[in-house]
Amino acid sequence: MGAELLSGKVVSAKIREELKIELINMKKDGIIAGLAVVIVGDDAASRVYVNAKKKACAEIGIESYEYALSEETSQAELLDLVNSLNSNNKVNGILVQLPLPKHIDEETIINAINPSKDVDAFHPHNVGKIMIGNYDFLPCTPAGVMELIKESGVEISGKECVVVGRSNIVGKPQAMLLLHSNGTITVCHSRTRDLKEVCRRADILVVAIGKAEFVTKEYVKPGAVVIDVGMNRLENKKLVGDVAFEEVAEVASYITPVPGGVGPMTIAMLMKNTVKAAILQSGKK
Ligand code: NDP
Repeated sequence: MGAELLSGKVVSAKIREELKIELINMKKDGIIAGLAVVIVGDDAASRVYVNAKKKACAEIGIESYEYALSEETSQAELLDLVNSLNSNNKVNGILVQLPLPKHIDEETIINAINPSKDVDAFHPHNVGKIMIGNYDFLPCTPAGVMELIKESGVEISGKECVVVGRSNIVGKPQAMLLLHSNGTITVCHSRTRDLKEVCRRADILVVAIGKAEFVTKEYVKPGAVVIDVGMNRLENKKLVGDVAFEEVAEVASYITPVPGGVGPMTIAMLMKNTVKAAILQSGKK
């Protein structure tokens, strides 16, 4: 392997350690951070994510409150819960784990979350603030990617940055954050022509498409920084990214592994947003 590994495990541990100290100091000022985690149904992957988030809260000193609702929960019931969490002073952040069952409209639920408790930064109010570049919360996964690029020491300003994927939770906000750092941005998607050639222009390539090991070494310019957001479970249960790790590591300068790359960073950024929400809501700092 020629590339250096950008370990989300290592970087996220550092961030969690800093947050732990901050939370101890906050407690001295009477501020206790609380995160409500809502899960509807019994999707196995969602359960894994929710457990990881609760565990991270417990480790650093954030109170977490789990609301595990049955698959049959109605949209009105979920809205009632969100509204009660909006007015619960112990809850600084509200996370509704996606995807929701088909009979519930995700947009309606996201829009019901008080933007000041929207620690995923999915509410249109926060999305707009990110667009402008004047935000309280950064979306967790793209923010985690930015931290990993920072860790590489590679300057973003002026570089060709290619983001593959344009979802509202990863691709689009990722492009915006790279733009705020003065990168030259190209966003690709399923209709992009000559994807390989476009990707090969990238000094920094971020892949978030949800297709196992799709990006091979032919997509990568020698020396590029490659960030793999994808999480795909193979039939043999192995977790792999959207990037063919072994062969791309031969040409890239830096590469993130899956697992242990962007995943743990997403959780660390959620913790960071929850701490920030608690501070902002306390009005003390
Ligand atoms: P979505 O399914 O919402 O979006 C996928 C995007 O990829 C779409 O914009 C789609 O294009 C594009 N795409 C799909 N196939 C191709 C292709 N062959 N060529 C080019 N573009 C393509 O996924 P998410 O953004 O939610 O997630 C992407 C991946 O990241 C998933 O594997 C997910 O599990 C993972 N993920 C990981 C997180 C982490 O913490 N590590 C957090 C969130 C997601 P179009 O718009 O044209 O359909």
